[in-house]
Amino acid sequence: MRVLVTGGAGFIGSHLCRRLLADGHEVLSADNYFTGSRRNIHDLLGNPDFEALRHDITFPLYVEVDRIYNFACPASPVHYQYDPVQTTKTSVHGAINMLGLAKRTGARVLQASTSEVYGDPEVHPQTEDYWGRVNPIGPRSCYDEGKRCAETLFFDYHRQHRVEIKVVRIFNTYGPGMQPNDGRVISNFIVQALRGEDITLYGDGAQTRSFCHVSDLVDGVVRMMDSPAGFTGPVNLGNPTEYRIDALAELILRLCGSRSRLVFRPLPEDDPCQRQPDITLARERLAWTPRVALEDGLRDTIDHFRRLLETQ
Ligand code: NAD
Ligand code: UDP
Ligand code: UDP
Repeated sequence: MRVLVTGGAGFIGSHLCRRLLADGHEVLSADNYFTGSRRNIHDLLGNPDFEALRHDITFPLYVEVDRIYNFACPASPVHYQYDPVQTTKTSVHGAINMLGLAKRTGARVLQASTSEVYGDPEVHPQTEDYWGRVNPIGPRSCYDEGKRCAETLFFDYHRQHRVEIKVVRIFNTYGPGMQPNDGRVISNFIVQALRGEDITLYGDGAQTRSFCHVSDLVDGVVRMMDSPAGFTGPVNLGNPTEYRIDALAELILRLCGSRSRLVFRPLPEDDPCQRQPDITLARERLAWTPRVALEDGLRDTIDHFRRLLETQ
């Protein structure tokens, strides 16, 4: 099939492009390189089944494709808060354009939504039927509300125009291919530990997250795209093993053999206290379950950063 991946030069998008090429598809990446990089897809550029387009999805895109994975959007709080208006435009105008493209071509379209649609949740673990607790006017809102509006658009194009949609709510994902300046917790802690710099714990470190290795995540995403047309989601994709952030810091220090110190910094506004996916639906409907334990996945990610830092 001819597959469009928006955000194809990003962290998850580049892994997804590689997987789709391995599955025998023709892949077109559309990316404006805001947080992604051509280096992420360097190994794919000589592949005759791969094409990389510099394109901002807030503008229309006319191409002929069979499937669309809509992954374009900065995902790290540091990056999505840098230009919040553009973040909302990317989610909302981007969704409209990708849905318009799907409507015209008859392509099936999958939206990379997020656990952030649950905000700072009162329901734990989070199930898909929970409507969430999101601040509509805070510094994270451009991302959270943009992604929520994108979900609304997906379901309205489905109901109104019969577009075939799939919505996955992705929980914190990590792995090789993350950028050292990404700003998210796993890349920050590993880079700090390897450089012997202080480990920056925001708040008291008691907040929790559940971390999924990118190989597991991509597998779940592809299973969702290939699932029967009647199953739209939203479906949670994440690893349900929950960690406190201070425990994550200790684990990374140990795996890196680092003597960096922990230092405490203010907790960012609206930082969710706890997050853990309930993945019953994905297990039942996609026969999907994450396989990579955090410690193994971290070793792999630490190796990636070691190599990267050595060449810088
Ligand atoms: P990333 O920042 O590495 O990748 C995002 C990509 O989108 C980048 O290549 C960037 O250049 C591109 N992009 C941004 N705005 C664009 C625009 N207007 N037009 C075209 N391209 C644009 O982030 P990621 O971690 O790979 O996340 C990918 C997707 O998955 C995002 O939609 C994100 O919201 C979603 N997601 C990720 C996580 C996670 O933990 N990584 C969790 C939940 C949801
Ligand atoms: N669009 C696009 N590629 C296409 C078809 C549509 O980018 O192949 C854009 C189009 O520019 C429009 C948006 O998708 O702004 C929504 O399309 P739709 O057909 O739903 O809306 P309309 O064009 O009727 O406003
Ligand atoms: N965090 C931290 N130190 C850092 C970066 C992040 O303690 O250097 C915390 C952050 O406050 C949050 C958690 O780690 O509680 C996950 O942050 P990240 O930015 O990776 O993702 P998100 O908050 O979007 O889940």
